Amino acid sequence: MLGELTREQIDHLLHSEVVGRIGCHAEGRTYVVPVNYAYDGEFLYGHAADGMKLQMLRVSPEVCFEVDHRTGLSDWQSVIAWGTFEELQGDEATRAMELLLDRLLPLLVSEGVAATRDKARETLTVAAPVERLAIYRIRLHECTGRFEKSA
Ligand SMILES: Cc1cc2nc3c(=O)[nH]c(=O)nc-3n(C[C@H](O)[C@H](O)[C@H](O)COP(=O)(O)OP(=O)(O)OC[C@H]3O[C@@H](n4cnc5c(N)ncnc54)[C@H](O)[C@@H]3O)c2cc1C
Repeated sequence: MLGELTREQIDHLLHSEVVGRIGCHAEGRTYVVPVNYAYDGEFLYGHAADGMKLQMLRVSPEVCFEVDHRTGLSDWQSVIAWGTFEELQGDEATRAMELLLDRLLPLLVSEGVAATRDKARETLTVAAPVERLAIYRIRLHECTGRFEKSA
């Protein structure tokens, strides 16, 4: 059975997943990139080192973001959201990084990657020192959700 997710189910999926795909488009080129994120019920938060994704998002901040959970080929839930990329500075960036750590630390611990918050921070910032890392949020404007459930 195919169907549409309710707003509550959309929020649940965004809260429970940690990997999404940012679709960006700038200067005639489209780029879809997997990233980790945290969701606070209003914004998606992420971090990125300098590179193609960040350059495109700075030129053209309107994004499409996709998240899914799949337990089988005909058993899945998926959310597609449109929003605006906003780079954060100062206290807002610190708060966003802490939110990301809160969300990812239990997973990093359970996977044996990091036992402490400091170690988790190091793991998250492996691509660049924290001061050269862009911390961003995506302000969501529109979300749709679909699912398929096998009988
Ligand atoms: C599950 C998962 C979670 C991730 N979480 C994050 C995150 O939270 N933050 C973050 O910054 N990055 C994350 N990454 C890595 C991310 O997907 C990019 O590889 C990375 O951010 C570099 O992107 P960039 O545009 O700066 O690439 P650049 O270093 O500028 O390189 C651009 C070139 O590399 C290719 N390329 C870049 N990334 C990929 C890729 N993933 N697969 C294949 N080709 C690629 C592009 O096609 C392009 O040709 C994650 C990856 C995965 C799989």
